[in-house]
Amino acid sequence: MIDQHLPLARLADETAEKFQQRFGRPPQWVVAAPGRVNLIGEHTDYNDGFVLPMAIDRYTVLAAGRSPGGEPPRLRMVSGHKQGEAVIPLNIPLQPGQPAWANYVLGVAAGFAALGAPLASLDILVESNVPLGGGLSSSAALEVAAATLFEVVTGHRLDPVEKALLCQKAEHEFAGVPCGIMDQFTSALGRENHLLLLDCRSRQAELVPLSDPAVSVLIINTNVKHHLAGGEYARRRQQCEAAARHLRVRALRDAHLDQLKTQHDQMDPVVFRRARHVITEIGRTVRAATAIKASDWPEVGSLMYDSHDSLRDDYEVSCAELDEVVEIARKIGPGNGMIGCRMTGGGFGGCAVSVVQSAATRDIAKKIHGDYQQKTGIQPALFVSRPAAGATVLKA
Ligand code: ADP
Ligand code: MG
Repeated sequence: MIDQHLPLARLADETAEKFQQRFGRPPQWVVAAPGRVNLIGEHTDYNDGFVLPMAIDRYTVLAAGRSPGGEPPRLRMVSGHKQGEAVIPLNIPLQPGQPAWANYVLGVAAGFAALGAPLASLDILVESNVPLGGGLSSSAALEVAAATLFEVVTGHRLDPVEKALLCQKAEHEFAGVPCGIMDQFTSALGRENHLLLLDCRSRQAELVPLSDPAVSVLIINTNVKHHLAGGEYARRRQQCEAAARHLRVRALRDAHLDQLKTQHDQMDPVVFRRARHVITEIGRTVRAATAIKASDWPEVGSLMYDSHDSLRDDYEVSCAELDEVVEIARKIGPGNGMIGCRMTGGGFGGCAVSVVQSAATRDIAKKIHGDYQQKTGIQPALFVSRPAAGATVLKA
């Protein structure tokens, strides 16, 4: 019931082998960057709030080499997840184009060019065991892997926070997704056996140990993605901005629940509920970090369920399938090792994240798999991950 996947070293070897098969020579560089899962703190990042993510031990790996006779300069890219080859000329101003997936790398290349570190011709082979479009941030993994590659290729080293910001800009400007800083930050700065309590305003992260082998993170991919996601995300951002303006604060991070409540009758009811989610979620995130440090698992569980309810009812970004997973988890309950569960990521499908007693993981996974499939007719994917390390250079 629990998906197994290749450890990073094996995935890296396979990627290097595929590069050799495709381009007839071994790669000069192999780099990797992980996906991420957010334990709590959803839709708080673009409100200058707190998030509590970890890097997962699933990675996007890039094997690359300089192209022989590479003039005019261009990137030639192949991905195991996509048909055909993407060839991108680098001697003209870099702009988003086709194929769409190449834009994530192109945006990062544009960031390096803007720093005065342009690229020469490269061949790049991409492999990944982060599910694409599943809410575990394969997009940030691809961007951060590209930035890690371009650092070694150009010799232009970035401070890790600067690197995350460069990748975020790529996602804004080349993929058209106005995301916060969490995904790229976690992929770049993840730490083994630690969550990151990230202050999205100061961009400082506090490391929160999650190293107790008796507790595991179980991720459940609903394997649905509802298509309203893009437009709804932008609408939520606008509603948060409207709420902050109404409350006369710089961002919802600066507002208090009591202050919001006094405005109940003066505010649009939908904007009010959006703000209530963000303000309470920021509080829950900070409390969850404290509870995890104290191994107060009942508190962690109750914060996770409250987070889910708030995302479902006030923020309205859940969906029937995510709600189903969380209901199944609630029924399993703490007596059977289920500590807590909630939707994670932007919403409208994708993944739920749960914290479970390690000894019960197999039974819980079996139960969720069976019940979810029975209720929805959809086969979920489940896997366990310990908090993993961020981007790494494996061959240089
Ligand atoms: P998520 O980040 O949650 O996985 P997104 O929609 O933000 O979902 O990003 C997924 C997109 O990122 C894919 O549709 C594709 O364009 C691009 N992408 C990510 N990883 C890869 C990869 N390994 N190969 C090709 N494209 C990728
Ligand atoms: Mg993404």
